Amino acid sequence: MIEVRNLVKKYGTHLAVDHLDFKIESGRIYGFLGPNGAGKSTTMNIMTGYLGATEGEVLIDGHDILKEPEEAKRHIGYLPEQPPLYVDMTVREYLEFAAELKGIPKAKREEEITEIEKLVKIKDVEHRLIKNLSKGYRQRVGLAQAVLGFPEIIILDEPSVGLDPKQIIEIRELIRKLAKNHTVILSSHILAEVREVCDYILIISKGKLVASDTPENLEKMLGEHNSVEIETEASPAEVRLILKNVPGIECVETQETGDGLTQAKITEKKGEDIRERVFTAFASAKTPLLTLKAAGMTLEDVFMELTQSDTVPDAFISGTKWEEAGTDAGDL
Ligand code: ADP
Ligand code: MG
Repeated sequence: MIEVRNLVKKYGTHLAVDHLDFKIESGRIYGFLGPNGAGKSTTMNIMTGYLGATEGEVLIDGHDILKEPEEAKRHIGYLPEQPPLYVDMTVREYLEFAAELKGIPKAKREEEITEIEKLVKIKDVEHRLIKNLSKGYRQRVGLAQAVLGFPEIIILDEPSVGLDPKQIIEIRELIRKLAKNHTVILSSHILAEVREVCDYILIISKGKLVASDTPENLEKMLGEHNSVEIETEASPAEVRLILKNVPGIECVETQETGDGLTQAKITEKKGEDIRERVFTAFASAKTPLLTLKAAGMTLEDVFMELTQSDTVPDAFISGTKWEEAGTDAGDL
C-alpha cells in the first residue's frame, strides 16, 4: 500500500532521515515511535507530499508522491503536527473549505461532513469559531479534516500531544474506530501510547529504522535475554571475579551506589537460567547477596536500548538553514 524506498532527507548537512526502507500494508495501525528529533515528522511530511526528499522515493498504491501527487494524495488523509486550521472560521466553514480543496463533489459534501462530524463528535460545536475551541476539540477538527473523503490511509503526527488524559483516551478510541475501515499510521515519542494502540511498531532513531515488528514480537525477540539484578557489599572488581567462571552469562554491568554497595546487572545467554548459579557462586565466596532478582527485558528497555543517543544538541539548529515545510492551504 505504501512503499518507502531508500528515503533520505538532509537539512543542510544534517541527516534527518537516513536511508529509510519500509512497507505499510493495509488494514493495520502502524506506530512510528522515536524520541524527539528522530525524524518522524520529516518522514511523514515526505510521505504525504508536504516536503521533498533528498533521495529515495515514496509510492502510494504504486503512485510516486512527487511524480503523481494528485493520484497519490487521493489515498491519504494527513493530520500534521501543527494542523493547518483556519481559526477565524467556524468548524463547519472550515470543513466545507477543506472538502472543496480535496475535490469532494459538491453534492456529497454536506452529507459527508455531517457524517464525519458525528464520527469525531464535533457536531455540537460546528458553528463555533475554531479559535474558541479547546485543544482537544481543535485536534478533532484536524482529524475530521484528515478523514474527509475517507481516504484509505490516515496519517497522524503525534495526535495526542498536548491533550489531557481524558482527551487522550477519547482520541485513542477514535483512532481505533477509524482503523476498522482505514489503515492508520501515527507517530509518537511515547512508547506506552504506541503499544496501546498499534499492532505494528516502527522504531526510528536518528533518522534510521532500528526495529520494526509487532509489539509482542519486539518484546519476545529482545526479551529472550533475561537478566538478574543483584546488590552486594563487594566491590565491582570482586563481583566480576566471583562471576568470572559462572556458566551461562552473556555480560555483566556494575555500578556503585555511593553507600558502599555494588549493583550488578547480569545478562543471561539465550535460554539460560543463572539465578541458582549466581546465588551459589556468591555463597561459596562468602559474599552475601543483599538482593537477587530476575528481570525480563521490557519494551521500555528495548526502546531505550535502541534509541539511546548521545543526544543531538540544538547546536546544529543555529548553524543550519531552515527550510520551510509547505503548509499552505493548497497542500491540505
Ligand atoms: P521528530 O518528528 O521525530 O521529532 P523531526 O522530523 O521533526 O523529528 O526532526 C528530525 C531532525 O531534523 C531534528 O534533528 C530536527 O531538529 C531537524 N529538522 C526538522 N525540521 C527541520 C528544518 N525545517 N530545518 C532544519 N532541520 C530540521
Ligand atoms: Mg515530530
